[in-house]
Amino acid sequence: MDTAEIRRRFVAHFEAGGALGAHTPVPSASLLLDDPNLLFVNAGMVPFKPYFLGQETPPYARAVSVQKCVRTPDIEDVGKTTRHGTFFEMCGNFSFGDYFKEGAIELAWELVTRPQAEGGFGFEESRLYPSILDGDQEALELWKRITGLPDERILRLGRKENYWSMGVPGPGGPCSEILYDRGSEHGPDFEPSLLGPDMPTKLEDRLLEIWNLVFMQDELSAVRSKEDFDIAGSLPNKNIDTGMGLERVAFLTQGVANMYEIDVMFPVVRKAEELTGRRYGADHGDDVRFRVVADHIRSSMMLIGDGVTPGNEGRGYVLRRLLRRAVRSVRLLGYEDRVLPELLPVSRDKMGETYDELHRDWERISTVAFAEEDAFRQTLRAGTTIFDNAATELKAAGGTELSGDRAFALHDTYGFPIDLTLEMASEQGLSVDEVGFRRLMDEQRTRAKEDARSKKGAHRDAAAYREVADSLGRAVDFTGYSETTSEGTVAGIVTAGGVTASAREGDEVELVLDRTPFYAEGGGQLGDQGVIELENGARLEVRDVQSPITGLIVHSAKVLSGEVTPGLRAQSLVDLERRASISRAHTATHMVHKAFREALGETATQAGSENAPGRFRFDFSATGAVPDSVMADVEATVNAVILDDLLVEAEVMSQADAVRSGAMALFGEKYGDQVRVVSVGDWARELCGGTHAGSSGKLGVIKLLGESSIGSGVRRVEALVGTDAYQFLAREHVLVAQLSEALKARPEELPERVNDIVEKLRAAEKELEKVRVAGLLARAGELAAGAEQVGGVALVATSAPGASGGDVRTLALDVRGRLPQGQPGVVVVVGTELDSGANGKVSVVAAVNDEARARGLSANELVRAIGPLVGGKGGGKDDVAQGGGTDASRIDEALALVRTRVGSA
Ligand code: ATP
Ligand code: MG
Repeated sequence: MDTAEIRRRFVAHFEAGGALGAHTPVPSASLLLDDPNLLFVNAGMVPFKPYFLGQETPPYARAVSVQKCVRTPDIEDVGKTTRHGTFFEMCGNFSFGDYFKEGAIELAWELVTRPQAEGGFGFEESRLYPSILDGDQEALELWKRITGLPDERILRLGRKENYWSMGVPGPGGPCSEILYDRGSEHGPDFEPSLLGPDMPTKLEDRLLEIWNLVFMQDELSAVRSKEDFDIAGSLPNKNIDTGMGLERVAFLTQGVANMYEIDVMFPVVRKAEELTGRRYGADHGDDVRFRVVADHIRSSMMLIGDGVTPGNEGRGYVLRRLLRRAVRSVRLLGYEDRVLPELLPVSRDKMGETYDELHRDWERISTVAFAEEDAFRQTLRAGTTIFDNAATELKAAGGTELSGDRAFALHDTYGFPIDLTLEMASEQGLSVDEVGFRRLMDEQRTRAKEDARSKKGAHRDAAAYREVADSLGRAVDFTGYSETTSEGTVAGIVTAGGVTASAREGDEVELVLDRTPFYAEGGGQLGDQGVIELENGARLEVRDVQSPITGLIVHSAKVLSGEVTPGLRAQSLVDLERRASISRAHTATHMVHKAFREALGETATQAGSENAPGRFRFDFSATGAVPDSVMADVEATVNAVILDDLLVEAEVMSQADAVRSGAMALFGEKYGDQVRVVSVGDWARELCGGTHAGSSGKLGVIKLLGESSIGSGVRRVEALVGTDAYQFLAREHVLVAQLSEALKARPEELPERVNDIVEKLRAAEKELEKVRVAGLLARAGELAAGAEQVGGVALVATSAPGASGGDVRTLALDVRGRLPQGQPGVVVVVGTELDSGANGKVSVVAAVNDEARARGLSANELVRAIGPLVGGKGGGKDDVAQGGGTDASRIDEALALVRTRVGSA
């Protein structure tokens, strides 16, 4: 059964839902869902978190999804176990206060055991082992009743395996897994009833976990570790969250040995075999590399597809590491050419069957990936040599540990990632002082971040925010779409020390209100500023607003006067002018985005933006520089739409309706059934949570300042809007007027006039050059006429101040031609730069005629002889030789040496 069929059957099974009711199919969210605690979506439940946390009301009671997941902690396991991918797809069914344990177990068991001919996965019951959290009597009884399995076939595992929580106070609950016994060739025989609370590692490949059912039933008040937490009570609404590994089911039903050999992954291994000439299955070490390649190629492609670009921090670093590991693994398999152009399309053709955007966005995805490989190849070339030298040196000195300094220098100077250093060191039997390396990295990071931090305000531990959010018990009410002044109540105060009960004049705090018109930075739009006044007369100045966790709006503020305590009524006043100016920028960004897509095609999707007062930055995917003509067209289009004064409206609708209405769905858009769509007339539609101008006419005018590259495949346009755009244009106007005045030309004549001037200058320079050469050559006759007679040789040995390389040669050859015919002749000219004093650059040319060469004189030898005297070297042929140096203080000595040499010939 191929992967697509398993996916289809899973969704169909839950969409039908049987007696428990249909599940709403929910498309996979982007891997980059906004979540402060996660780098990437790592489980099917992540997009539903706000529902499980009670922050939002789910629009359905049951849902089914196949979610793209990335788990970076599993990177070390890839290729070594049979079952860990950095990217994988998690099939899940969810119940929000609807069915619970019984329904979840029935539905899962039914699907895995129903024969394949009848639409199930057809696993033999005799191979399946359910597991429960030891003590979950309810689950135990249900498993026995529903499956008919005897008591001893059900494994009792401990909290480490089978208790789920988010690691923070909030919902939690016991799990049940479905494990598949792959047979005795994959691990030791075992007695199910004797297995302890921990699954022995040596059994993990034999008893393969395919599905995890989470029974969310507890309210946790404290979580100290995976196994140590306090249960405060039961959740009022019990939920179901399950995750079935698509690849794991695929490798079992396809009868292959591991997930890397399934239909959508193995073709990459085959292609790698073809490139490297090695065979998969011949050598254990090579096999691991083949699997790493198949996994990392796919993961990288999916990450780029969702908008990640390689970088040195966070998500970008994960992508960089995956790409580099893939490239290096192929190298270790013996192939050194560029690999991504060969392997990436193979993965695309497979994954593209499900993820169509891989085809649509191929141009951008491949450009980003290929550019990163090229950069890495460069790094490898430089870094490997440095590393090898360091390793050799270290071994020669009898050492076994590469110092932190060395590792840091490799990283800092050559861009050599630490994991590569570690890998290469271990290949050579060396270790690396990682602690030292991390310390140096931290020092560097701290320096770089100090500035950013002073602007953003302190970054607190998410736990403090969580605490405030929990005490508020619901999401903060954002009123800022319709008003800029609102009434609210102080819900919490956070300072560097955590949640606090009061703050006074001079304190820097992060204030949470239950209702606020202040916009929190997000979607590229900067946070609002303004003032908050409390009923007791206290005043706070708001400098920035952030939303560190979903549903919470946090005002970074300074207490100007009075005392702040929770429960006080508050009046919030947003700085109107700044807000209006930011809103104009945000609307302008949508319009520019739309105009670029019209001009460059659908692939010109937004990759980031910043909307600040009066100016904005817009990053988008494009493969090369944007031509000036396109920039001009986009600017003209947007300014025309401004004149049309289209109404800008926001509407909340279902995501399906939004897509139907032609709204551009963007990367990182948070999945929820209801989305906010902002439209500029009928022209531009985008999912957006930001604030906007009331109509396009309010923007006044926009001016694009230019575009540049900010990384592989991403271009950045900077622009001004409204008053700022006007002022920029006015300034340019003044400049042009000044130029016009200075050059005595009308503005439209300026380019031609400047061209004229530049051309005249060039002509004048050429003329000057001619005069100079003529002057030099005029000296040739004079010099030839004044040749000395040294032992029967006509010798001209002279310095030529002001003549450099080419001139010196021309002069020397010209003089030689003018010496008396039929007599040995030698010319040596030493040119010096004017005004350069004793340390100036020196050019030496020696020219010797046939008769002199017959006497054994050689231009080459003469130049070599005087080289040391002028602080340089050179040489050439016997007839003409050339050299140079940096010491002009001993030219006379050099010329005297020439005379001696010629005299003794
Ligand atoms: P394991 O112990 O095997 O790493 P897990 O306990 O981390 O699994 P869960 O977090 O319960 O797994 O995830 C639910 C399901 O997702 C698992 O039952 C498995 O089928 C699948 N899964 C988890 N991690 C991976 C991975 N790295 N690659 C492929 N599938 C995975
Ligand atoms: Mg795991």
